[in-house]
Amino acid sequence: MTQLHSETYYDAIIVGSGTCGATLARELAKQQKKVLILEKGATVPLKETLPGIAPLLNEVKVTEKLKDMRAITTGGTTAFYFGVAATPPLETFSSLGMDLSKAYKEVQNELPINYLPDEYFGPQSLKLRESALDLGHDWEKQPMLVDLDKCTSGYSYEAKWKAKSFVEEAVENGATLLEKVEVTNVIFENNKAVGVAYKEKKKSNIHKVYGEKIILAAGILASPVILQKSGMKNVGNHGFYVDPNRVYFGLIPKLGSTNNFVGAMETKLEDDIFLGDANVPKLFYQLLMISMLKFRHLFSFSKSIGIGVKVHDPMSGSVSEDGQYRKKISEDVLAKLDKGGKEAIKILQNAGAKHIVKSPVNVTSTGGLLKINEHVNSNLETQFKNLYVCDRSVLPDTFRKPPTLTLVCMAKYLSDKLWA
Ligand SMILES: Cc1cc2nc3c(=O)[nH]c(=O)nc-3n(C[C@H](O)[C@H](O)[C@H](O)COP(=O)(O)OP(=O)(O)OC[C@H]3O[C@@H](n4cnc5c(N)ncnc54)[C@H](O)[C@@H]3O)c2cc1C
Repeated sequence: MTQLHSETYYDAIIVGSGTCGATLARELAKQQKKVLILEKGATVPLKETLPGIAPLLNEVKVTEKLKDMRAITTGGTTAFYFGVAATPPLETFSSLGMDLSKAYKEVQNELPINYLPDEYFGPQSLKLRESALDLGHDWEKQPMLVDLDKCTSGYSYEAKWKAKSFVEEAVENGATLLEKVEVTNVIFENNKAVGVAYKEKKKSNIHKVYGEKIILAAGILASPVILQKSGMKNVGNHGFYVDPNRVYFGLIPKLGSTNNFVGAMETKLEDDIFLGDANVPKLFYQLLMISMLKFRHLFSFSKSIGIGVKVHDPMSGSVSEDGQYRKKISEDVLAKLDKGGKEAIKILQNAGAKHIVKSPVNVTSTGGLLKINEHVNSNLETQFKNLYVCDRSVLPDTFRKPPTLTLVCMAKYLSDKLWA
């Protein structure tokens, strides 16, 4: 971890080094700005193994019973994301006064965005598609943030793009990275953000650091809380969504399932109900089966086939003053999950699956807590001058697809606006 001298003043202080923080840091360092990244986690070798993933995994309660997941590490949640790359909703942003088209063009040149050829999928994904198509569903491929040159035989964790690579570039270009520090609040003078306060891991003393522009990029489960604690009053005043999901797994003898790029194929069943490929790599499958206490399935990965059901829930709930997310999932949403579940089971049975089990309800992703043109303006600046938010907290709640590509575009857009 870099040592800081308290008298150092930065052009930009970026809180969090995930998708948005890493992209912003990379862009601003290229512009020769003096950048400080404050990151709660640490740099670790990224490996898709239990000892590699488990220490990064962090859960936050978002409803009475459900928790959302994030990675606390340098590079953020892309450490264990799936790599699905939904196309950014340029028109939605344009209607909010934000033109992301230049950023998207750059991103298309810089990141590996590919539709995976069939030979990159495991037999369980191909079988699932065959069955869904047979029952009349459109089972469409999604683009993926996957470098095909790095996939020698199908699935490869290393081939998925990760934000950590952008943090490394930023540091190579002069950005300072301070790890294992948790930002607690923003410091203001005359309604203007001038710095942040932070704590070092396992220590209680508070440090302060100052800069011209302060950007919160700590993610949907942290930036809204930092804003609350910094005195912003209307955080989450429209509620938020969590898009509950449930997965179903069955067994087909001799299927030969392998590690697999999950989430790369899906369909819309009806308004608000979605079905998708849930064929996770073996490590995640085993963790899931242990959590569900399904031991027959735990030891039968090579026969497994899985499908997920997701429902768009309405905006409701709030973030309380002590930073707790509160929401209740309605009976209507649970009924939609059951309806999707019935079709999911049909697809699995049509594929020949037996011994079908279902997971408890999970959170797909929390979102919608801050609104562009209300909590932040179209330059992502808050009511406080020089305080910006750039992460999933500000994505429009109408866009509920995998957000990474859009977040990279949004961070690039902001890097052009900060000193425009
Ligand atoms: C299992 C899973 C699979 C996913 N799959 C996909 C997918 O296929 N495609 C897709 O597009 N998206 C996917 N996502 C979502 C995607 O990874 C995240 O939405 C995205 O990484 C969010 O980026 P971010 O910059 O908002 O936050 P993050 O990437 O979460 O980064 C936030 C950073 O801030 C740090 N931080 C937090 N609090 C503080 C603090 N107080 N002080 C300092 N630092 C702090 C964290 O350690 C972290 O590094 C997935 C998510 C999960 C959990």
